[in-house]
Amino acid sequence: MKILMVEDERYLAEAVARILEKNNYDVDLAFDGEDGLDSALTGVYDMILLDIMLPKLDGVSLLKHLRGDGVSTPVILLTAKGETEDKVLGLDSGADDYLPKPFKTEELLARIRAVSRRKGELLPEGVLAFGDIELNPSKLILSSGDRSYNLTLKEGRLLEYLIANKGTSLSADAIIEKVWGYDSDAEDNHVQVYISFLRKKLARLGSSVKIRNIRNVGYVLAAEGNAKDGRGSAKRSPNG
Ligand code: CA
Repeated sequence: MKILMVEDERYLAEAVARILEKNNYDVDLAFDGEDGLDSALTGVYDMILLDIMLPKLDGVSLLKHLRGDGVSTPVILLTAKGETEDKVLGLDSGADDYLPKPFKTEELLARIRAVSRRKGELLPEGVLAFGDIELNPSKLILSSGDRSYNLTLKEGRLLEYLIANKGTSLSADAIIEKVWGYDSDAEDNHVQVYISFLRKKLARLGSSVKIRNIRNVGYVLAAEGNAKDGRGSAKRSPNG
């Protein structure tokens, strides 16, 4: 999961980023409102942690602009003491939650999980499900039935992105931007290699989930048979 943190207190921002990265979140930082808005508008983030008092452009204005542009990335506002009015204004402007500063790490992690869950993509404990597989994105564990595999960080991000966009084909460019970052020099064959790693792991798990390659369009995650997305037991034919 990719998080953008917009916070002008660099020490705080970097400390939080280190903690989030330890929990296997991918974190980008912006230290003023304008940079934050530019990054947020790319739409590649799964969550934005947004301070209110920021140089160049304040958090609430940033949020209004973002929502005005149709970017619906979940936003958690970081509010300093006494900014109650700002908080209300923020929620009216389309924030999903707020967290008063100073906050404890556990509290921030819990809010991030809660907001992700409310967006309907995560099961309790942050586990994503599709067909007969489950992915724990923070522990990087892919499982099906009683079997499981550890994934590398890139494999985990890639599968997470595919699950979040199940049924939609994703171009190699979109995948590179999301998984490797828009400023990376990764190329299409990097994507192919990681797709093949994931396919091998899915096959070894005996999963019915496939990553289909649609020529000149991209990759799409599909569950064969009548396995449904969402939580559910592995598909088993009654006749064995
Ligand atoms: Ca600030």
